[in-house]
Amino acid sequence: MRQSTLFTKTLREAPQDEVAQNAILLERGGFAYKNSAGVYTNLPLGWRVIEHINAIVREEMNAIGGQELLMPALVEKRYWEATGRWNVDIGFRAGANKGDEAQFTLGWSHEDILAAMATRYIHSWRDLPVAVYQIQTKFRNEPRAKSGLLRGREFLMKDLYSFHADEKDLFAYYERARKAYDNVFRRCGLTAYFTLAAGGVFTLQHTHEFQVLADVGEDAIFLCASCGYAENAEVATIQQGGVCPKCGGAIEGKRAIEVGNIFPLGTKYAEATGLFFTDKNGGKQPVVMGSYGIGITRLLATIVEVHHDERGIVWPESVAPFAAHLVLIDEAERGRTDALYEALRRAGVTALYDDREGLSAGQRFADADLIGIPYRIVIGSRLAKSNEVGLKRRMETQESPMAADAVVTMLARKDTR
Ligand code: ATP
Ligand code: MG
Repeated sequence: MRQSTLFTKTLREAPQDEVAQNAILLERGGFAYKNSAGVYTNLPLGWRVIEHINAIVREEMNAIGGQELLMPALVEKRYWEATGRWNVDIGFRAGANKGDEAQFTLGWSHEDILAAMATRYIHSWRDLPVAVYQIQTKFRNEPRAKSGLLRGREFLMKDLYSFHADEKDLFAYYERARKAYDNVFRRCGLTAYFTLAAGGVFTLQHTHEFQVLADVGEDAIFLCASCGYAENAEVATIQQGGVCPKCGGAIEGKRAIEVGNIFPLGTKYAEATGLFFTDKNGGKQPVVMGSYGIGITRLLATIVEVHHDERGIVWPESVAPFAAHLVLIDEAERGRTDALYEALRRAGVTALYDDREGLSAGQRFADADLIGIPYRIVIGSRLAKSNEVGLKRRMETQESPMAADAVVTMLARKDTR
């Protein structure tokens, strides 16, 4: 993509009303635009990152048998009434016509409507287990909205739901989901701790959260420094300075961001919606459910919180908007730089090409560091004579010379998304 044609421009100053680093950097870099408190547009650069996150999430969910679907965001009152969740106050209500009494709540989670729909398809033990998921915009009337994209009132979530004949099968699947979640977060460049937590409005049982350590995190967790065992402070049986029940290690109190959450739901939603199946002995049983969420836009913001420095974002290669940032630094080399851009394209390497006119190298480099693409490539007149380019990884301060075609080959091998 030629940067001269990009819809967005970088901002020198952070927007006045943002305090969280993720929002400051994402807005300055041209990844996100704040429309209202807790409501953001995903701009072209940001959407590319989200598509890369989504591709990782889809691969991992498909690998555990998840089938992708897309449910409505407008969820009618009767679905919430059946499960007793019409009056949960995080829902945004919607009437069909102006002045009408609200007949819908914009979906903030989809157990209710999905369990009701599953009654059409699940009748016998032969229909189980089964799992479906979606990546969808969720709406929650969050009271606090100062954490930037970490806590939106409108945000993207991946929600997977599984259906089982019994608890044993649910917990076997729960373990598979846990591993898939570990893969998602690791592939996104994050270390997420599997953390014991409370059930909230979903279930009375204990659940598990995936927590990434960060000082901006709204959650307090207790974590074992040796084995990584963790409990959310809301339900903790361990404390700062205590001893880990698993390995005897030292427990530390930490701030963390909840990037994912998995819930054994039991039979609550099946019983509320009439989702029963006939078991092998001909008996009628409620279906046992699990639900599994990942905040996609929260994940984007968490990656920025963890991977940035004073100059800007440092995207992990797996989710970066482009693999390379080709930067024109010498008008005399425009022809050669154009040709390298074409060579990268032909080799299947995604590149942002700063081909803009009339900017100093310093301004371009500041933008490149802010945007945070993993590799920066420049063609200076000295190296150009030997057909070499200057290559710099985002975290490095010095660029090093490398043959132009070797750079193309190296990046083509890396950028297989
Ligand atoms: P929190 O405790 O942070 O309010 P939650 O426990 O209510 O979150 P879940 O219902 O478990 O959230 O939603 C699944 C995932 O969606 C969460 O783990 C989180 O990553 C993400 N998420 C939840 N609420 C928001 C929000 N307001 N903005 C962005 N992401 C969110
Ligand atoms: Mg949660």
